[in-house]
Amino acid sequence: MDRYTRVMKTDPLVKEFDYNIEYIHSYAQDSKFFTSLGMGILLGSECKKCNYRYGTYRKYCMFCGSETDDINLPLTGKIHSFTTCYYSGENFINETPYTLILVEFEGIDSLFMSRLVNKENKNVYIGMPVRAKFRRLQKFDVNDVYFVPA
Ligand SMILES: [Zn+2]
Repeated sequence: MDRYTRVMKTDPLVKEFDYNIEYIHSYAQDSKFFTSLGMGILLGSECKKCNYRYGTYRKYCMFCGSETDDINLPLTGKIHSFTTCYYSGENFINETPYTLILVEFEGIDSLFMSRLVNKENKNVYIGMPVRAKFRRLQKFDVNDVYFVPA
């Protein structure tokens, strides 16, 4: 396999080259969260002991260590906070700037981080109603769900 290599500077020597690896990642106990996204279900968790309700899926309570039960999160919520990202990793490099949001769900004690896709260019504000949408071609990552203005 030929690899692309380009010398950018000679003193000090700096070169650019492509770098690809096969990466195997296990979602382990979080697998159900990711597979559920393909069915249009956003899973959260509820602690069996202290009843804390998580907007971000987890199998064990961070307060008491007890195992949690799965709960279906509502597909609508409101923006708790947001930020605009002008730089990005590879996944969103063509979409910058984009908006990251923390979603607040009624009856849920913690927040869920996601992206706001705002094709209508509505002004984003704290408290803005949003609803979940799911990517049609599931890639089994956290970007299989995103939010739009409700
Ligand atoms: Zn607990």
